[in-house]
Order: sequence, then structure tokens, then C-alpha cells
Amino acid sequence: MIPGSFAYHRPKSVSEAVAMLADLGEDARALAGGHSLIPMMKLRLATPAHLVDLAGIGDLKGIRADGGDIVIGAMTTQHEAIGSDLLGSKIPLLRETSLVIADPQVRYAGTLGGNVANGDPGNDMPAVMMCLNATYEVAGKSGRRIPAREFYQGAYFTALEAGEILTSIRIPAPPAGHGSAYEKLKRKVGDYATAAAAVVLTMSGGRVATCSIGLTNVAETPLWAEEAGKILVGSTLDAATVKKAVAAAEAITAPATDARGPAAYRTKMAGVMLARALARAQARARA
Ligand SMILES: Cc1cc2nc3c(=O)[nH]c(=O)nc-3n(C[C@H](O)[C@H](O)[C@H](O)COP(=O)(O)OP(=O)(O)OC[C@H]3O[C@@H](n4cnc5c(N)ncnc54)[C@H](O)[C@@H]3O)c2cc1C
Repeated sequence: MIPGSFAYHRPKSVSEAVAMLADLGEDARALAGGHSLIPMMKLRLATPAHLVDLAGIGDLKGIRADGGDIVIGAMTTQHEAIGSDLLGSKIPLLRETSLVIADPQVRYAGTLGGNVANGDPGNDMPAVMMCLNATYEVAGKSGRRIPAREFYQGAYFTALEAGEILTSIRIPAPPAGHGSAYEKLKRKVGDYATAAAAVVLTMSGGRVATCSIGLTNVAETPLWAEEAGKILVGSTLDAATVKKAVAAAEAITAPATDARGPAAYRTKMAGVMLARALARAQARARA
């Protein structure tokens, strides 16, 4: 339970952090809230020789509106996301999701950037970001933007390259009147999801106009259930169509059998979470 030795670095700007990571090479890791990385280091599942702490970089903090987008600095904590009036009014799904991550102690330190960059399929934010069609803004040798839907490549494998850091998350604000929900099944308070589903939808004349669905912890990566969302468009969310969409979502899952249950159970729970999230999002949407 004691990590290996490492050198600690504390850059003051994004450019300094990126230069440090480039100089130090593959043995260096960015450190954000430390609530995934430090436990991994204690178990010796990660043994970086250098930690580049991003906590001293003011530019990585804050939540702001930019035209129709909301931009969240990578070092914004989950606690700060819960307290943000801007997120509360524009993207309440992020507040709802933050509230079911771990416990207050973890949320005071854990960042949104760390949660999405980590690549653990058990993290809650990645599927939500896919559902919201977020884009990750990245600094490195040159800056680039990576859609959340293209970012996750396998468990702990992402599109981030060595020497790059995620600086912010850009989300197109869903239209006023949209409905959203995040439903998470967990064994106890503070646990990772057995299965979870995120939904953002809009309604028009009592029918679904748009619908986007994300699934957490039921495959090696978070999932965007594109086909399931398409099935629901034009429907009144009647039981038969919801059943079809749930079946389409379940079909793309491939969970592991683990301490949270057998694979077949976790797939079924993903479907149950989706049906609940759809009902709650519909109740919250203005027609
Ligand atoms: C008891 C406990 C329960 C938890 N339960 C949940 C849960 O239910 N749901 C959930 O989603 N999470 C859970 N977590 C994880 C928690 O949310 C973490 O805070 C989060 O996964 C990582 O964020 P962090 O800021 O702590 O990142 P860190 O741990 O500092 O970093 C995680 C990884 O991301 C990389 N990284 C971090 N920031 C950047 C960046 N800006 N650019 C590039 N790479 C970066 C790091 O190099 C590292 O590889 C739990 C943690 C604990 C300790």
C-alpha cells in the first residue's frame, strides 16, 4: 500500500506542463486530483517515475459559456461541478452524475478532466460526455480537439498521446426544454457502477425529437448507444419501442463477470437503467 518512489513536479502553466511531460518521456504522468492514480500507485499497478501535478495551473480551472457551448476546465473538481449554477441551468445531467460519484471526500479532489482522461470504464463521466457529444481540448506538441465518442479505445487506453494533456471539455449545451437523467446501479453508496445509463432527449408534440444514450461500465470502454437512440426518435416512448431500444442497447454491451455480478446480469441491468433513465428524462422534458 506504499507507492514506489517518484519525483514531484509542479508546473505553473499549460506550456510548462507539456514541455515537462515531453522532456520526462514515458515515465512521467500528469497528476490531477490523484483519486484514481494514487490508489493505482499504492497497489503498484502504476509506477511512474515522475508526477507532473496540474494543480498549480489556474488556466485549467473554471466553467464558462462560449457561444452555445459550455467549456469546463480539466482541473474543475466534481464538487465544483455540483455547485455550478451555469451547469445546473444548462446541463443538469453533469450535476446529477457528479452527485453519484464516490463520496464527498473523493469529489472535493477528483476532477472532471481526470475522470474522463483516466480511461477506466467504471468512471461515470465518460459515457455522459459521449451522450452529450462533448469534445476534449488537448495541448501537446500542437493543440487538437478529440470528440469524446472517438476517445476511448480500450480499458485505460485513450486517444491521448504521451506528452499531451487534456485542458478542457467543450459541450454543446442541449436545447432549453430538453430532458436528461443518469441512472446508476451500485452495490453501496460510493461504489462504481454495476451498470449505468445516461439519456438526453428532446420532445416535440409528445414525440421524441432527438435522443442520445450513453452506457457506463458494461464494456471495456464507455458506450454511445447510437442505434438505441435512433429507434426512439419519432416515438411517444411507448412500451414496445422502449423495449426495442433497450434490446439494441443491451446488444452492444460486453461486460466482464466480476464482483459486481455475472456478465448477463450486468447487461440486463444496463437495460433496466436505460428504461428508468428514459422515463425520468421524458418526465423532465418540456414537450
Ligand atoms: C473510493 C473511491 C471511489 C470512487 N468512485 C468513483 C465512482 O463511483 N465513479 C467515478 O467515476 N469515479 C470514482 N472514483 C474515481 C474518482 O472520480 C477520480 O477522482 C477520477 O477517476 C480521476 O480524477 P482525478 O482528478 O482524481 O485524476 P487522477 O487520479 O489524478 O488521474 C487519473 C488519470 O488521468 C490522467 N489525467 C488526469 N488529469 C489529466 C489531464 N488533465 N490530462 C491528461 N491526463 C490526465 C492521470 O495521468 C491518470 O492517468 C472513485 C475514487 C475513489 C478513491
